[in-house]
Order: sequence, then structure tokens, then C-alpha cells
Amino acid sequence: MSTILITGSNRGIGLELVKQYAEQGWHVLACCRQPDNSTALQQLTSAHENISLYTLDITNAQQLAKLSKQLEHTAIDILFNNAGIYGQNDAYFGHTDEQKWLDTFRVNTIAPFKVTEAFIDHVANSELKTVAVMSSKMGSMADNGSGGSYVYRSSKAALNASFVSAAIDLKPRGVKVAILHPGWVKTDMGGPNAEISTEQCVFQLRKTLSKLTMDSSGSFFEIDGSIIPW
Ligand code: NAP
Repeated sequence: MSTILITGSNRGIGLELVKQYAEQGWHVLACCRQPDNSTALQQLTSAHENISLYTLDITNAQQLAKLSKQLEHTAIDILFNNAGIYGQNDAYFGHTDEQKWLDTFRVNTIAPFKVTEAFIDHVANSELKTVAVMSSKMGSMADNGSGGSYVYRSSKAALNASFVSAAIDLKPRGVKVAILHPGWVKTDMGGPNAEISTEQCVFQLRKTLSKLTMDSSGSFFEIDGSIIPW
């Protein structure tokens, strides 16, 4: 049985990742800030005995160290860094908030990296040895034709830069890294007018991950599996 660890698993794309991988028979380590308060996740867990729930705020170094130790002997085939925030949503040129910008970097950029550092041995000890990172096409400079979104765009661009380096550095350990754009998805973040459902999104993400090779490691994947320019 393959194992996947998912951050931000209580709603949105993360919750659907839990559902589909559990239905495929994977052992799912579903992490979120408040598992006791997540009805949807609790219901999924009652229906699938292969889901285990863990408390993890990805910015909390103590929780991260504790969970890494607790799962010391668990090989993790896919470490899925899904959790993220939009950050300051009223930012425009001349009206950017330094503290909110830093907070967004903490969640979207630094925390996924620290999560990956904490679980790299678990991943390297697995069969698939895969780190998945939920980025956004909004982090692509080549794709930026509309401006704005300073905080979110820069946090995802920096996430991409960090994981391109990690993909290079982790190659000798046989670890592959996929930097993923999930599409514009109907979630709290994506809103009701988004283009695709979480079901469609996760179906495609699973397909892309199943095709990941050492040669394509470190690439930025569009939801259809094609490559997004940086
Ligand atoms: P969402 O519905 O807003 O869900 C965000 C998830 O991240 C929630 O589970 C939230 O937990 C969790 N989270 C936030 N901060 C956290 C922290 N410090 N520690 C642990 N968990 C935390 O968003 P979504 O649309 O599913 O987005 C998932 C990922 O896809 C994000 O990285 C996002 O940037 C990316 N993305 C989404 C879209 C889209 O169209 N939806 C497009 C491009 C990229 P709480 O419930 O505890 O807040």
C-alpha cells in the first residue's frame, strides 16, 4: 500500500485529495490545523479505514517536529504540500502591508519547504519518493499579463524557485519534485465562478503525478500535464 501525506486536508483541493487517494486504496495521512473541528474530514475518515488524521499547522515548528518523529518509521511515497493562503486580498500598488506580505510568505513559501525538510527521510525511504508542491500559475512571470496580486504572486514565485533548487539537490537521493498548478478550482479560495471542480482538479493532479519521472522533476506542471514557463 502506498502512502501519501497531505497538508491542508480539511477543505478544498486538500479534502478531495484525501478522498480520491483513499478510494484508490492508499494510506492517507491527512494533516490539518483542527482535525477535531473538520466534519467533512471526520466523515471521510469514518468511511475509509485507510485515512489517519493528524494535527499540523504548517507554520508551527514544534508540531512539525513532533509529527515527523511520530511518523519516523512510516515511508511516505508522496508528500503533498497543498496548504496555502491568498494573503492580503486588498493589496494594490501603493497599498501593500508588509506584515501581511511576510505572513503570506511564511505560509506559502517557507512552511512547505520546512515541511519537506522535516519529512525528507520518510520520502527518501519510500518507493515513489515524490514531493508535490501546490503552486499557482499566478507565480509564473511569463504568464503575468494582468499585474496586481503582489503578495500571492511573489509567494508562489519564490516557492517555485525554492523547489527547483530542491529538485536539483534531492536528485542524488532519488527524490522527484513536482511543482503543480491545480487550475482555477471551485473552492473557498478559487470562488464559485472558477473553471473546474475539485473532483476534476484532483483527477488530473493524480494523473500528472503518476507520470512524474526523474527527468521531469523540478518542472512546473499545468493541470493538463503540460509545462508552464517560469
Ligand atoms: P482553500 O479551500 O482556501 O483551502 C486552503 C487549505 O489550506 C485549508 O485546508 C486551510 O486550512 C489550509 N491552510 C491554510 N493555512 C494553513 C496553515 N498555516 N497550516 C495548515 N493548513 C493551512 O484553498 P484551495 O483552493 O483548496 O487551495 C489549495 C492550494 O491550491 C493552495 O496552496 C492554493 O494556493 C492552491 N491554488 C488554488 C487555486 C484555486 O483556484 N482554488 C488556484 C491555484 C493554486 P484551514 O481550514 O485551517 O484554514
